[in-house]
Amino acid sequence: AWQIIFSVILAIALICTFISLLATIRKQNELATMRKAFVNNMTHELKTPVSTVMAAIESIQRYGAMDDKERMSRYLSISRQELEHLSNMIERVLQVDVAETNGVLLDKKTFNLQSLVQECLDNTQLFAKKTVEIDYSSIGTDFQVLADPAHIKNVISNLLDNALKYAGDPVKIKVTLQDHGQDVTLTLTDNGIGIPKAYQKGVFDLFFRVPSGNIHNVKGFGLGLAYVKQIIVQHQGTIELKSEEGVGSTFVITLPKEGK
Ligand code: ADP
Repeated sequence: AWQIIFSVILAIALICTFISLLATIRKQNELATMRKAFVNNMTHELKTPVSTVMAAIESIQRYGAMDDKERMSRYLSISRQELEHLSNMIERVLQVDVAETNGVLLDKKTFNLQSLVQECLDNTQLFAKKTVEIDYSSIGTDFQVLADPAHIKNVISNLLDNALKYAGDPVKIKVTLQDHGQDVTLTLTDNGIGIPKAYQKGVFDLFFRVPSGNIHNVKGFGLGLAYVKQIIVQHQGTIELKSEEGVGSTFVITLPKEGK
């Protein structure tokens, strides 16, 4: 009888190992496909600004735009815009590294999170190409946190960028900062397209994009939220998503004040 029990246990163990091996291989394949798509997209995206700037310079040098002040200034401003776009993308590629490896070395300082959020919101309103209605409020009094301000700023900017990208019209963003004593929560709600239930867990994975219509008309690489999660986890914080398709999304970040 022991022999039978032993054989059954061995068989079950073998089957489990086999199943988990298959799952690992599938996951690896999926990741390889997503990575390939990312490299393709990124290469394409990087080429566009480079060739635009080249064309602008060529027009200035070869086609006499140098003597035409108006054309000259148009070409220069196109070049500048394209270079800004390029620099943005390079910044994003660097985020892959953060999200994929063990993260970054945090440079923590004590700063006021309320002011940092305000700064990010001001930038959003300044640079947004559409009308953005922002409702910012805070509950409590102490918003001093020990954290890495540069990375926390990137986190907030990434969430705001997404709120704009997947936005409703007009864009409405509600931001609430709440002091809970030991930690603070930052809640960002948008009135965008929302994220279907089935994809809500996946959005924090590297390279993941919701495979719905938006992938074709909204540019992105599926890096932002993976970076955001990595940074928040490194701060011993948490990030949660609540979303309803067609209604909007809410991201809630909890950050310990002392940074632990
Ligand atoms: P990206 O926006 O560059 O694709 P992210 O990692 O920031 O990458 O987001 C992953 C995916 O999650 C997006 O492609 C999009 O499908 C979905 N998503 C993220 N934020 C929002 C949002 N605020 N509203 C709707 N969908 C969102």
